[in-house]
Amino acid sequence: MLGAIAEYLGVTVSLEAVATALGISTVALSAGLIALGTLGVALGVAWVVKRLQSSNTTLHTDLKSEVSLKAFYGSLGGSSQGTLAFVELNGIYYMIEQETTFKVNEEATHRAIVYLPQKRMSHFHAESRIVKALGDQGIPMAGAKIWVSKPICMRCADLLRSKGFSIQTSEDGSWYEAWVSPDEVLIEMQPQRPVTRFIARSDEETRLKRDQEGLGLENLGASRSTRNPNPLYA
Ligand SMILES: [Zn+2]
Repeated sequence: MLGAIAEYLGVTVSLEAVATALGISTVALSAGLIALGTLGVALGVAWVVKRLQSSNTTLHTDLKSEVSLKAFYGSLGGSSQGTLAFVELNGIYYMIEQETTFKVNEEATHRAIVYLPQKRMSHFHAESRIVKALGDQGIPMAGAKIWVSKPICMRCADLLRSKGFSIQTSEDGSWYEAWVSPDEVLIEMQPQRPVTRFIARSDEETRLKRDQEGLGLENLGASRSTRNPNPLYA
């Protein structure tokens, strides 16, 4: 850097020359430059973190309570039977519903909230869907905050806490027999993969190749030792 500037100015500046001018050793000068650079990077990182934190606390405040989330959901045509879950994780906001409401999807996208896709499935609560969606994407959930438009049932609450969520809205302790776990959905959504078919075809190709090779040897009437170029078999 210093060299490049010096070159541009048409002067010769060496670390030694600068050190001599400042009356310090080159080691001290190098250490000083490194310290300055490190401090600059640290200040830059601190500034970015501060910016993110301040924006997070003021963003989407109208969605950060059960009552306001329910009102938001109702105003966009969300079903009174449906549930809307809102999550904040590492400065990113996510939204997921029990079933898709077009206007909710549109509004979330407009607000730069990640609207998570979902599989139509009854008894698979919005809170569990978010665990599944984030889990499928390999996103660690520890430290996430969740707001839900209606009281969270016992099994969803247990699941959310086990994943490290901090629940921001109410729980009613209800226990649903038909409750669907994200793990069950995982199994259901990974049916017989085409892997078995691929292996079968590969085996078939290998078998055919071996047959052809075998045939070739037979037709030529050659023995393995005379045909194999490997001296070990000669
Ligand atoms: Zn639930």
